[in-house]
Amino acid sequence: MSEILATDRAAPRHIAIVGSGPSGCFTAQALHRKWPDAEVTVFDRLAVPYGLIRYGVAADHQHTKAITRQFDRAFADGGVRFAGNMEVGTDFGLDQLRQNYDIVVLASGRWRDRALSIPGGKLPGVIVSGDIVNALNAVPRPAIPMPRIGRRVVVVGAGNVALDMVRFLIKTDADYEGSDVASAALRQYLEAPATEITVLSRSPIAAAKADVAMVKELGKIDGVKFSYANTSPATDDNALGRKREEAFAQLAALDVDAWRARVHFIFGAEPGRIRGTEHVEALHLQAAPAGEPSVLECDTVISAIGFDVNAPGQWHYAQHLDFTPDDTTGRIEDGLYRVGWLKRGPHGAIPANRADANEVAKEIIADVEAGRFHPHEEAQGYDGLPERARANAVSFDDWRHIDETEVRGAEPGRIRHKITDHDTMLATVRAATPK
Ligand SMILES: Cc1cc2nc3c(=O)[nH]c(=O)nc-3n(C[C@H](O)[C@H](O)[C@H](O)COP(=O)(O)OP(=O)(O)OC[C@H]3O[C@@H](n4cnc5c(N)ncnc54)[C@H](O)[C@@H]3O)c2cc1C
Repeated sequence: MSEILATDRAAPRHIAIVGSGPSGCFTAQALHRKWPDAEVTVFDRLAVPYGLIRYGVAADHQHTKAITRQFDRAFADGGVRFAGNMEVGTDFGLDQLRQNYDIVVLASGRWRDRALSIPGGKLPGVIVSGDIVNALNAVPRPAIPMPRIGRRVVVVGAGNVALDMVRFLIKTDADYEGSDVASAALRQYLEAPATEITVLSRSPIAAAKADVAMVKELGKIDGVKFSYANTSPATDDNALGRKREEAFAQLAALDVDAWRARVHFIFGAEPGRIRGTEHVEALHLQAAPAGEPSVLECDTVISAIGFDVNAPGQWHYAQHLDFTPDDTTGRIEDGLYRVGWLKRGPHGAIPANRADANEVAKEIIADVEAGRFHPHEEAQGYDGLPERARANAVSFDDWRHIDETEVRGAEPGRIRHKITDHDTMLATVRAATPK
């Protein structure tokens, strides 16, 4: 009997994706293309789709966020269902999901800032970049207010997120024209913006992580004087390192008559400790290039040193599973897969998630075709999930009401005013579609 069933059902009927960031959405697209008759549902704990595209990518990078339009089409034509405000592990368990879906793909991401672990790293005035990102992007669950930032700021880290921080520190309100930045958070900062910014990188320019395009972008911002100190120039065979060095040399050569802010990059610098009694007063370097001071007087330290791969609480829905980063396989066990940052670890931009999603989709298809697939005859898909959770779910049409409300509420020069609070989003949905 089971053999007959397996032959009859050589394709999954119900596919669940947990997380509507890019990796979840790309996977949903690929699996829907393969099995157009299957129910594909993308769940998210938030009331709005797209994960870090909406909530991580900087507000002044709207061109990057435009990728969501292709996902909109997949949700809008009914081929793929969006189910927001449905948190696996809270509204229902992973077990319930697995009982009702033939295939479950976990795409819940992971990113908790790695904190500075040097003496003084917990002093008031030491901020993780994620708190600023969350405030500028109006992350709703939980909503984090814009931290207080002083005039003299040290940014620790020189990767792309660190450069997002530098752009934020030196941009003016006008530079956010056409963006969806959280205006109140930005205004709070711009009341007394930083004027002296020092950026520290352990590695020399040649080995730093920042993309060349991100370095060049800084040069387009008016009224800022750039300088840098470096150790160990790139070797002849390090073409990328040499390009990055050129980009920094061009930044430093910019002719700026009247500057409102100065940014000094120190490459090959190692923070040693942060000094202060009740608040940050200075950062002491334990290594610095020749000629650079070893003490940087400052009132704010922003760390942008990457993410804590195993920070607790990131997958409360599946504490028993091993989520050690893995570049090779998406399969956790038969019928259960992972993709994106949850699979590979918190690195790589959106295109890397597309490639990963396509690989994992191929793996799933190959498993199904090889019989490594055990359909649940009793599975009901979405209809089998608890009624209460379904009653509170935010559909794609509901999200459009939130979207329209945000766009309608945009201040002059902005494209939307993001709702900053989860309950207000749900109230917006209820007001638009009384049940
Ligand atoms: C600050 C920052 C800036 C970035 N800037 C750029 C950039 O400019 N360009 C670029 O290409 N890339 C950028 N990236 C990288 C990019 O955002 C990531 O590569 C990508 O978002 C990872 O995709 P993901 O789908 O794996 O995870 P996420 O995008 O994190 O999506 C995970 C989703 O899962 C949901 N979720 C979590 N737990 C549950 C649960 N229990 N139940 C239901 N849903 C759940 C979350 O709400 C979220 O929507 C940036 C990242 C950060 C952190």
